[in-house]
Amino acid sequence: MNMPARFPKPWSQTGTQPKIAIIGAGMSGIAAVVKLRRAGYTDLTVFEKADKVGGTWRENTYPGLSCDVPSRWYSFSFNLKHDWKHRYSYGPEIQEYMEETADAFGVTDIVRFNTPVTDLTYVGPHWQLTTGDGEQMIFDVVISATGVLHRPAYPDIEGLDAFAGDMFHTARWDHSVALEGKRVGIIGTGSTSAQVVGAITDKVGEMHVFQRTPQWMAPLPQKRYSESWKRVLKTFPFLQKLGFHWYFQLMLRTFAAATVGNKPMQRLLSWLCLRNLEKNVPDPELRRKLTPDYQAACKRLIFCSDFYPAISRDNAFLVTESIERVTPAGVQTADGKVHELDVLVLATGFDPGAFILPTRVIGEDGRDLAEFWDGAPRAHRAVALPGFPNFWLLEGPTGPVGNLSLITITEHQVDYVIAMLDKMKADGLAAVAPREQAFAEYNAGMREAVKKTVWVTGGCTSWYMDKTGTPNLYPYEPARYLHDMLHPSFAEYRLMTDVQVPTPLESAA
Ligand code: NAP
Repeated sequence: MNMPARFPKPWSQTGTQPKIAIIGAGMSGIAAVVKLRRAGYTDLTVFEKADKVGGTWRENTYPGLSCDVPSRWYSFSFNLKHDWKHRYSYGPEIQEYMEETADAFGVTDIVRFNTPVTDLTYVGPHWQLTTGDGEQMIFDVVISATGVLHRPAYPDIEGLDAFAGDMFHTARWDHSVALEGKRVGIIGTGSTSAQVVGAITDKVGEMHVFQRTPQWMAPLPQKRYSESWKRVLKTFPFLQKLGFHWYFQLMLRTFAAATVGNKPMQRLLSWLCLRNLEKNVPDPELRRKLTPDYQAACKRLIFCSDFYPAISRDNAFLVTESIERVTPAGVQTADGKVHELDVLVLATGFDPGAFILPTRVIGEDGRDLAEFWDGAPRAHRAVALPGFPNFWLLEGPTGPVGNLSLITITEHQVDYVIAMLDKMKADGLAAVAPREQAFAEYNAGMREAVKKTVWVTGGCTSWYMDKTGTPNLYPYEPARYLHDMLHPSFAEYRLMTDVQVPTPLESAA
């Protein structure tokens, strides 16, 4: 019979380093390693399913890939870069930056590449981690740094598999397929599609864009930085910091304010987008088809200056009839027309409910994370979960995402985790987890507040919505979230000095 057993003393009571597992070597994983080390936590192992760091910037390689958050802000605070080539960086440069940062800060060395984590089981106060090849290890703390949008969503369209040409999702771009002169179709008109269409329309034979819902699109004031400006920034590093904070505040006060209820800012955004449309799409019929009937910023606002000129070209066709089925020859729409294609690109987005799933995560008393979330992921302050002690999420559900620098958000979340670890160390705690009641109250407040945001009042649906139709986003000013990350309330947590488990664990593998 298994008798409750007391554990050997936890790390916080013996003065040893906690063994910390970080899952994912994208920008969150990199930020976690650098900041944890600086805070004195050095026993770190990163698990990465792929063979390189970079996360979303490694995975997405589609033509036109770029970041619509300004480069000066979309940077690690501990590794500002004086020589960004553009105001808005293209994917390859960001991926290079991720790899350079990981190398320069000693992250790459501690990553176990090609090692997916399949199972995490809490055997209090430790976590048992299982990798894809069945290896098991024990950790004191687990940090999920898997990102949000990493599982491509494939549309449920009749006949999709029967298409005779080349077909791929934007996140799995097949670079062996030449596009020059081809008849290319793209399903979807989100941020990704806008960048792809903007980049390839002048190279392909025909560009057919299948639009289900028109999007609000603001111009992207792209700019190439001069060599002399890069030299100035190198000479005066404080200007790099100034640039970081300038864009940080600009985005918080304009776009972010508009989404959480600032009406004048919302009107300004709509005006900016409509003006962009009028200026760049001369054909009134095309303009009509591209005009949304819901509020700006209800879906994630697109910043792109290349899409409208591209879709206005003679070889571009905006198809607004709904898709009936895919045939071997192309896409058939509701009017019976078959749009014949050589290549079909699926710009249909991602599963927004994935986060750390499909890793199986089992917490206290056998609580299964997939069941706990049940298609509507929630977390306490986007970083912690009741029933899952010593486990934190970076970029977890209900955090401020959208048109913000996720690097800044993630860095603040790492600071929060560090404050928790410091508390454990100072008080000799074996385990910490948010109280069920604190979690419930926090999320009840969010549910009320979110009703007033443009994501709900704006009259659209988007990937922000979970299975219950509730936006999975932070409904207040992001500045409030960042402040809360720097000032954690320990009263919201169960602070456990002693944890009893049914069976003692074998010593760490
Ligand atoms: P998305 O915003 O979810 O857009 C998916 C598109 O596919 C939508 O236009 C959607 O139409 C359409 N769609 C989905 N299923 C369909 C179906 N069965 N039939 C017809 N159309 C269908 O995906 P995304 O463009 O890949 O962007 C996802 C997120 O990635 C963005 O919101 C952003 O957070 C991030 N991203 C960021 C950047 C950046 O520059 N920072 C760039 C790209 C992506 P409906 O609108 O009608 O649903």
